[in-house]
Amino acid sequence: MNLIRKCFFLLLLAVFLVNVAATQTTFEVVGGGDSNKISEIQLKNGEAAVWYLFHSGWAVKTSSVLMIFDYLPNGFVNPNEIKDQDVYVFISHGHGDHFDRNLLKWKKVIPNITYVFGWQAQEAQTHHAFGKGRTSKSLGPLKVKNIYHNFDNIPESAFLIEVDGLTIYFSGDHGNSPGALNPVYKENIDYLSQQSEVFDLVFLSVFGSPTYDGELYAIDKFRPRVMLPMHYGGRESDAERFVTLARSKFPEIKFWYPMKKGDRFLYKNGKIFPLK
Ligand SMILES: [Zn+2]
Repeated sequence: MNLIRKCFFLLLLAVFLVNVAATQTTFEVVGGGDSNKISEIQLKNGEAAVWYLFHSGWAVKTSSVLMIFDYLPNGFVNPNEIKDQDVYVFISHGHGDHFDRNLLKWKKVIPNITYVFGWQAQEAQTHHAFGKGRTSKSLGPLKVKNIYHNFDNIPESAFLIEVDGLTIYFSGDHGNSPGALNPVYKENIDYLSQQSEVFDLVFLSVFGSPTYDGELYAIDKFRPRVMLPMHYGGRESDAERFVTLARSKFPEIKFWYPMKKGDRFLYKNGKIFPLK
């Protein structure tokens, strides 16, 4: 990790501590509506409900499962509220802004929970874990492929998931620093882009300010229906600069970014709708 990334990492940790201290929110969808609980939201094949859980943390509910990505258990998701769901927890790598061991305690509360690690973590011995190289795993209704990298000198994966008529990519920290494309990054994106005809939801870490070469390359390859920039810590509004540029180059693609945790939307027929 170079010095700039190290400083950024420390800054993020500070933001998280403040965030943890301040949070009182629950995962239940606030704001009313008939389907204001996650267990009450009924989805068809090809549909998804998506919640932003802070930084790189997301929840995606499809017709048969609830997937949680790189979530730090800060009290925002109450495992009791999702204990009746078939839950798949994805952890891309071991950095403190993506993984907290307390997440493993959920298995005491949620009977149908599956953990998927992006590396051969010590904690992963009784769970599913990807290692070096690209492989594929069938986990219940999910087909999961990974790409591997160690850009920060630790083992990491990004995940490509097919489930319930959807193709979803979650990058973790697989990103490209400003400037020329890292050959490993480019090769991984090229490989992933060949794995599906359609990419419904693409969650992408944005590291490439101000020219965003890597991000734009990935969007060009994936041509997703919805692209979601992430890894903003408490600076979510910074996504606007990237999205403005990306929209000008790819006007047919829908970009969505949250302003605060709990922001959410419904994905249906390739479009996004407010989720109340
Ligand atoms: Zn990160």
